[in-house]
Amino acid sequence: MKKVIYPGMFDPVTFGHIDIVRRATDLFDEVIVTVAKNPAKTCLFSVEERVEMLRDGLKEFKNVTVDSFDGLVVEHARNVGAVGIIRGLRAVSDFEYEFQMALMNRKLADNISTILLMPHARYTYLNSTIVRNLAMFNGDVSGFVPELVKQKLLDKFSKK
Ligand code: ADP
Repeated sequence: MKKVIYPGMFDPVTFGHIDIVRRATDLFDEVIVTVAKNPAKTCLFSVEERVEMLRDGLKEFKNVTVDSFDGLVVEHARNVGAVGIIRGLRAVSDFEYEFQMALMNRKLADNISTILLMPHARYTYLNSTIVRNLAMFNGDVSGFVPELVKQKLLDKFSKK
């Protein structure tokens, strides 16, 4: 049983993240999508909200679970028995950061590999920040996020 974790902020989950999860499920028996609790980053959605949106957006996948963690990614991978860490690579601009993280994580845990997956070309320009900004200015986010995320974005920004 080969298990991997896919860590990130997912603030909120987009179709780009879901595309990466789909590719990971084709390669591995179990994928754990993990919401990072990072006190250094201010998020629009709480950890609980991000987990809820991920669970809803990924409900079609039988071999995917969602959790959260607040320590080192490699520690979490080790604790759940994962053999690897999935990350998404959209463009050259992602590469340097992901490469640095992958080498640091390998230094910390040599037996846990980082697997970089490329999304479909239609998602290469998509990220959570663009989606949040679009929603803030009443743009239509339908083509980028699941329905529940769209509703939650509308709720957030209509209250402000
Ligand atoms: P982080 O702050 O950890 O980068 P994100 O939620 O922004 O958190 O991203 C989590 C992972 O998903 C990262 O590896 C990122 O490159 C990847 N990712 C984000 N958006 C997309 C997308 N549209 N297509 C493919 N991968 C993506």
